[in-house]
Amino acid sequence: MLILTCPYCGVNAEETELHPGGEAHLARIGPNGTDDEFEAYLFARKNAKGVHFERWRHAYGCGKWFLAARCTATLQVFGTYRAQTPHPPADIVEAIRKARPDWTPDWTPAEGTAE
Ligand SMILES: [Zn+2]
Repeated sequence: MLILTCPYCGVNAEETELHPGGEAHLARIGPNGTDDEFEAYLFARKNAKGVHFERWRHAYGCGKWFLAARCTATLQVFGTYRAQTPHPPADIVEAIRKARPDWTPDWTPAEGTAE
């Protein structure tokens, strides 16, 4: 069973206490976006076998949305973090790299941050 730690209330919640919210870190398309960009925002998802970043809601707890990094093949959880975080925190990226040395992030690291 998948167990995730809510980063807000600290509870180790079983999957049945949570509500899945799909892929994390989707970039919203503004009013100047093209039809193709909007279609990709609405329908294109990674559906990765391996490291994946997801949105979850602590539905039967504090009710807040948070993000989780886990492996979809093994259910190994690398960590959870607050939903307002634009990219996974450095400690979670480090945990992923330790467990999956061949994994590379698919975002461009921001200037002045660890990732
Ligand atoms: Zn919670």
